[in-house]
Amino acid sequence: MPLTCSSYQAYDTRTARGSSFFVIMVGSPRKWAASMRMGTSLRKSRTPIRSGSFITSAYIMYTRGMAVRCRVYPAPAQEPLLLEHCGHARFVWNLAVEQQSWWRPGRGSAPGPAVRQRQLAEARKAEPWLADGSSSVQQQALRDFDRAMAAFFDKDNPAGKPSYRSKHGTQGFVIRDTNVRRLNRRWAQVHVPKCGWVRFRLSRDLPEKLGMARVTLDRADRWHVAFPAPQSALDRRPTGAVVGIDRGVRTALVTSDGQHYRAPRISDRRAARYLALQRRMARQQKGSRKREKTRRAMARITAKVTDRRKDWAEKTSTRLVTDHDLIVFEKLNTKNMVRKPKPKPDPDQPGAHLPNRARAKAGLNRGILASCWGLLATRTEQKAAASGALAVYVDPRFTSQQCRRCGHTAKENRESQAIFLCVECGHADHADVNAAKNVLARGLAMAPVSAQAPGPWGVRPRKPAKAAAGTTQEAA
Ligand SMILES: [Zn+2]
Repeated sequence: MPLTCSSYQAYDTRTARGSSFFVIMVGSPRKWAASMRMGTSLRKSRTPIRSGSFITSAYIMYTRGMAVRCRVYPAPAQEPLLLEHCGHARFVWNLAVEQQSWWRPGRGSAPGPAVRQRQLAEARKAEPWLADGSSSVQQQALRDFDRAMAAFFDKDNPAGKPSYRSKHGTQGFVIRDTNVRRLNRRWAQVHVPKCGWVRFRLSRDLPEKLGMARVTLDRADRWHVAFPAPQSALDRRPTGAVVGIDRGVRTALVTSDGQHYRAPRISDRRAARYLALQRRMARQQKGSRKREKTRRAMARITAKVTDRRKDWAEKTSTRLVTDHDLIVFEKLNTKNMVRKPKPKPDPDQPGAHLPNRARAKAGLNRGILASCWGLLATRTEQKAAASGALAVYVDPRFTSQQCRRCGHTAKENRESQAIFLCVECGHADHADVNAAKNVLARGLAMAPVSAQAPGPWGVRPRKPAKAAAGTTQEAA
């Protein structure tokens, strides 16, 4: 094993066919050690990269939390029981969150996992309604919480702090030691404690070994069951092809080869309906049945849009990973990209505002595009890791203002939204393609500068023309 690394390393490695490309490792060596200890079934699945197959295993850390998800169709009599499990799991989880929230510096530690389980047993004795529910579902909710706390304290890759779960959001509970029986090619049943066999659609192959399963109810009233499973490898052969990707404004994605990928948007009709429902809901009384009906109608629209968005991200990421060995993204803070549309003040009446439905619709679309981008990048990363390709991120600053040929960086280079025209050397290109080429160059240029790299994202580009090595010349 040729591995002695700082927190950032790059490797010139060869694919199975002999073409050369750089493999860049990001993250701490401690994490790599941990991920290399992980099961061989994950490693077996990938396309061989000579002297580099262990490297892709460093990316297993991104593949956690993946699952095969199937739609569940409970019988009418089963649905209230499932809902009750959701309620109990939520109640137990929220109690654990509350206990944790009482902790202050100097107050001693909050109860640990074992103490919490004992407290749950006592609570079940004291409260008959809790004892009526499934103890395994309730215990699993606490274990779920323990895992969430562990993820929160994970120094290398911290997650958010576990927070209260609302009965208005997505509901769910976890089954341990899942039992599944197949009915036929299309249908199977999963065993839920105190509820019996519940039917679900076999839309995808289930993982060979079943451990836990999570049953969820989304806001559009659809039940699903998710079985944790590693990402399976895509059917691909290493090509040595590399690609950089820019997030354009109009078209969602532009690649360095000049390919455009358009993300789904919300249709005019659907947006108008959604905004009308939103206004109606604002007038309705909280907790009323009519308001609940409005909420459901809104949730159905959101679900449709989300489904289309996910579908697009899956298809596009598969295509990117099948066709390329290295995929370079910009590192973007997606949260900042979703902003509320500004209100439009009425010139005749100070303090009043004009209706701005167009802006509201633009706001909806902006949110969809931003989430598409995040989803696409994550899925590409996961599929690449499982299939012997690599996805990396680079610093996005000035990629749209930098000239691909001479490296001159200036605002004036942007002739318009669509055209790039360098004021220094006269190089002209499609603005987003020029930016995508810059992204790719930065991804490739990370390799020679890795030893001195200040952070995981490589050398930061500076505003004056002195750009990082490899970023100034047009790739031959
Ligand atoms: Zn130029």
